[in-house]
Amino acid sequence: MTLLTELTVAGIRDGHRAGDFTAVEVAEAFSASVAGARALNAFILETPDHALAAARQADADRAAGTLKPLSAVPIGIKDLFATKGVQTTAASHILEGFVPPYESSVSQKLWDAGAGMLGKLNMDQFAMGSSNETSYFGNVLSPWRSADGSNAALAPGGSSGGSASAVAARLCPAATGTDTGGSIRQPAAFVGISGIKPTYGRCSRWGIVAFASSLDQAGSMARDVRDCAVMLGVMAGHDAKDATSLNLPVPDWEGALNADMRGKKVGIPREYRLDGIDADIAAMWDKGAKMLTDAGAEIVDISLPHTKYALPAYYIIAPAEASSNLARYDGVRYGLRDLSDGAGLQDMPAGEGLQAMYAATRAAGFGAEVKRRIMIGTYVLSAGFYDAYYTQAQKIRTLIARDFADAFSRCDVILTPTAPSAAFALGERSADPLAMYLNDVFAVPASLAGLPAMSVPAALSADGLPLGLQIIGKAFDEQGVLNAGLALEQRAGFNARAEKWW
Ligand code: GLN
Repeated sequence: MTLLTELTVAGIRDGHRAGDFTAVEVAEAFSASVAGARALNAFILETPDHALAAARQADADRAAGTLKPLSAVPIGIKDLFATKGVQTTAASHILEGFVPPYESSVSQKLWDAGAGMLGKLNMDQFAMGSSNETSYFGNVLSPWRSADGSNAALAPGGSSGGSASAVAARLCPAATGTDTGGSIRQPAAFVGISGIKPTYGRCSRWGIVAFASSLDQAGSMARDVRDCAVMLGVMAGHDAKDATSLNLPVPDWEGALNADMRGKKVGIPREYRLDGIDADIAAMWDKGAKMLTDAGAEIVDISLPHTKYALPAYYIIAPAEASSNLARYDGVRYGLRDLSDGAGLQDMPAGEGLQAMYAATRAAGFGAEVKRRIMIGTYVLSAGFYDAYYTQAQKIRTLIARDFADAFSRCDVILTPTAPSAAFALGERSADPLAMYLNDVFAVPASLAGLPAMSVPAALSADGLPLGLQIIGKAFDEQGVLNAGLALEQRAGFNARAEKWW
């Protein structure tokens, strides 16, 4: 029999249903992989007991004939999702030790569907980053090594780097991610797995630590397109507790998967062909277009004229919202409280001791990138600068959404590279925030427009590292995105994997 940890979500579900193995065997196999891969630092917290309890229930449900959609499937949860009774940190010192008394709506749906939790996955602090180097709990390592002879440790991408690394290294068959400006798609591309960010509002944000509320979306990361569809089908759905939650039925995405692209038009946006685009990336993009043509699609040239303003607009809007959302971490309500600057609190004039405690807590609790974003956000929202920066960025956001609306009058889906390069070495860009932000150039426009988008592994770079293709779809058309993703997956035949060194 194949190793249980080699199975996909659908493979586990179907094999368990058929009686090929027990759910307890699956949970134990994955928990052993997790424990054996601590060198990757993919998990902030391991929860093998949670996975085991769900597995016991799944085995009992099988005997009783009451199996659920994710019975026997153990998964990883990004540490941005509040999990009842289980520490939730957003990879920040300021939330260290915070044990939520509630469960996020998305994770609750996963548990209700029978899944178990292997642990809480490492990530960039408050989901701010593209390399997982901003985590308070240390960076995650990609399981991949470059064939360039350097043997350098590589970034797994971010901010869902723990999710990416864990799925690629077979520590879990699937994981939750969140995507504000690429954090599901870029790490998926860096480690050779698939990941989908649905239309804004498909998944409830309730109980997910907020970064930039108008952009944040949960989504699934898994080894193939089918698994992404299975997971997302459980995670999505209306939630009265989130005012921006879409009140739409969740289609049967898995059931309607179809790689036949006949009659479909695929747009290739000319503005994404950046000057000096990496040769491997350009070649993969051309090959992707050919694969979709082979699947029956017609390729059309499209224009998204405001693409070049997307990144600057994102890096105003996201920090602006973050500065507001992160005001709640004050040392009173959650996690860390630092009194070091507040010595002699009772001797201070009224209010000063409290201010000192806030300041000390936030100084000690937030990492450098988080502070940078709070400062940028506070600046662009301040009187005198608001119109020059924030209002302008919002106008650009509207223009970008309009670009997509125009483009989708001519095509069904859009094909682009996911990221402008393969995974880079840890440390290579951490000193240069702008170089790091540039990594999001292809991912951010779809986020600003609230559109569904996914990354599918498509090729290896000259140095033997995975490269991903991105499909962007119309609002609410996750099916079109998944179907084009499946057509790419079938033709790319990507089956490379990281050699085990951990
Ligand atoms: N890398 C982007 C940022 O740092 C996107 C992060 C995300 O999608 N959570 O903001």
